Amino acid sequence: MSLHPTDLSSYNVANEQRTGEQQSPSTAPPALELDGISLAFREKRSLLPVLQDVSLTVKPGEFVSLIGPSGSGKSTLFHIIGGLLKPQQGRIRMHGRDMTGERGHISYMPQQPALFPWRTTLDNVLLGQENAPRKNTAVPPQYASERERRKEALQWLEQVGLGKFAKAYPHTLSGGMQQRAAFLRALLSPQELMLLDEPFSALDALTRADMQQWLLRMWEKNRRSVLFITHSIEEALLLSDRIYVLSARPASVVHVVDVPFPRPRREEITLDPLFIEWKRTMTSWMREEKHKLDGDMDNAQSVHKNIPEDGLNRHE
Ligand code: ADP
Ligand code: MG
Repeated sequence: MSLHPTDLSSYNVANEQRTGEQQSPSTAPPALELDGISLAFREKRSLLPVLQDVSLTVKPGEFVSLIGPSGSGKSTLFHIIGGLLKPQQGRIRMHGRDMTGERGHISYMPQQPALFPWRTTLDNVLLGQENAPRKNTAVPPQYASERERRKEALQWLEQVGLGKFAKAYPHTLSGGMQQRAAFLRALLSPQELMLLDEPFSALDALTRADMQQWLLRMWEKNRRSVLFITHSIEEALLLSDRIYVLSARPASVVHVVDVPFPRPRREEITLDPLFIEWKRTMTSWMREEKHKLDGDMDNAQSVHKNIPEDGLNRHE
């Protein structure tokens, strides 16, 4: 049986109702709204189109995933949302405000934990708050005194099993512990919207499964608005309220999945026949996109189009 989003309309309605009841009022503007984002990198006299008319929404308190082939443009999209790159077309709105090209409005967790080796775990966790801009954030933070912030961060470290490592330096922590510290740094940053770029991809399978469960519990307690990049279909289905499936480069949204499983979710749902069916359907979508990308690489000319002298503006 082939399963498509339309087959799950009743689940989608239930999901909408749950969202409306437990999260924010339906009138609240989305935490993030991408509207028709397009970007091409200029390479000498050619253009590499990377994103093509990408639109998506993250409602307040939603966990949304982006999944797409390697090299399709996912990290580039995060750089655009973070204001590091300007799209050639499209707008970015956060909580109803146009933020296109503006920096400092998101908290970000990269693929590698990126902890400073000369700072203790606690001081690394506090870094997101130190570096946050003191104005113009989409959600105004309540700034506590440094003492209070340290106390709060210590409590969080205790909660995630890192209490004893507060004064330790990152090289003494395992990969999973470093990722937990990096996640806490993003979580304690004052910006409401979190972007997580393949945070578990460098971890071994068991640690990764533990981290997924840990993230589920953390997120279910805190309900921040999250946009999460992953390569793993299972991870996306386990964690997300909605999944946007991107095409091969130039990336556009080819499928949107409203994930039908109720929360709280635990590892057991991966054995549910509906979960397995969705996994199979999404795997075939992803395989299609990968084949397109492989074909593209064999025929590299097709992505490097010649551009006229008055081509698109150079971005940063
Ligand atoms: P993903 O995160 O989906 O794996 P990326 O967004 O990192 O993909 O990259 C998408 C494409 O854009 C790749 O082909 C990559 O080589 C290219 N690319 C990324 N950043 C730049 C850049 N600054 N200049 C030129 N090309 C880039
Ligand atoms: Mg990437």
